[in-house]
Amino acid sequence: MRIKAFNDFEPFNKLRKEMGTDELGSFELFDPQRQITYSERELLELGTFGIESNRLKILKDKTIAFKNTRLWLTWPSHEEFHLAACEQVQKRRHLKSSFIAGLNQPADNRVCIECLLLLKYDGLDARRSRRLDLAETIQKEFKLIEFQKEYPFYPLV
Ligand SMILES: [Zn+2]
Repeated sequence: MRIKAFNDFEPFNKLRKEMGTDELGSFELFDPQRQITYSERELLELGTFGIESNRLKILKDKTIAFKNTRLWLTWPSHEEFHLAACEQVQKRRHLKSSFIAGLNQPADNRVCIECLLLLKYDGLDARRSRRLDLAETIQKEFKLIEFQKEYPFYPLV
């Protein structure tokens, strides 16, 4: 089957002129149901994105996603941020409470150790973490940017 080249199709060329485009462009399909919008991205970057628990997805690797991005979760007057579906997160989801989400390391919150245990992050497991000092060191030295090398946040494909 031969498909007529659209750039020979006069009505389209006329339309293109009216739109003020001289060159043929390419389309990037955007689906706001599945891809985060610009304003969502902006709030996520700031770490101030409010999100209902039913809009969150738990990925197979137990990290948390919204549309096509991973993210961390916290909530008002909570000192930790969560990277996986740990007990605290699951409990809150169960209560259908909302969360605050973000993409960059929060300055005032420390990472949840339960989440890191769940992911066996950095070779951490429940047995080793009985040594409290070790868990504390990992928590203190945790860099989200390092975590994201293993679990890229955005965009998820
Ligand atoms: Zn957690």
